[in-house]
Amino acid sequence: MPELITDLDAIRRLALANRDAFEILRHQLEAMDGLDDAPLDAFVEAVAAPISAAIDCTQCGNCCRSLHVYVTPADAQRLAEGLHVPLDSIETNYIDHETAADEGEWGVLRARPCAFLRGKLCSIYQQRPDSCRRYPQFTPDFRWTLADMINGTALCPIIYHVLSEIVHRVDAGELKEA
Ligand code: SF4
Ligand code: SF4
Repeated sequence: MPELITDLDAIRRLALANRDAFEILRHQLEAMDGLDDAPLDAFVEAVAAPISAAIDCTQCGNCCRSLHVYVTPADAQRLAEGLHVPLDSIETNYIDHETAADEGEWGVLRARPCAFLRGKLCSIYQQRPDSCRRYPQFTPDFRWTLADMINGTALCPIIYHVLSEIVHRVDAGELKEA
């Protein structure tokens, strides 16, 4: 795989410049009635795997600076055990339930950038919330979550390069309806 651009200013500019191409992709996929979600998701995962492997998140950390991180009771419990502090202390100091409830979630980490970020590294990597482990998550239902993914192209080099590669392959006719 050729070296991928990871400079965040460059990624922001490229994402803006390619926004129309990403939106066209979204309309193309929504119109492909003969392509089920499962094979589309498999295609997307095959595109995403080498790109995710080629980009070193420890040199970036932009998602940890930029995004809301939703958490579950299990995440809070794991944090309490990992940091050796009482669960109610984790909830009081780090978790906002009110804001999360507006989105139908149990909790969201209070601080943005994340309070556990040290430089570009997660200081609680072993105990990090499940939503951090999954990010960036392309499947299931890539076709129906693509609108949100397009917003992510401006902040995450992995998302930008995965969507760009999918645009390229769809234009090349690699994705076929049954
Ligand atoms: S918990 Fe760790 S991985 Fe998750 S946002 Fe915070 S610093 Fe990033
Ligand atoms: S997931 Fe994306 S935004 Fe987050 S650290 Fe990795 S490349 Fe950067």
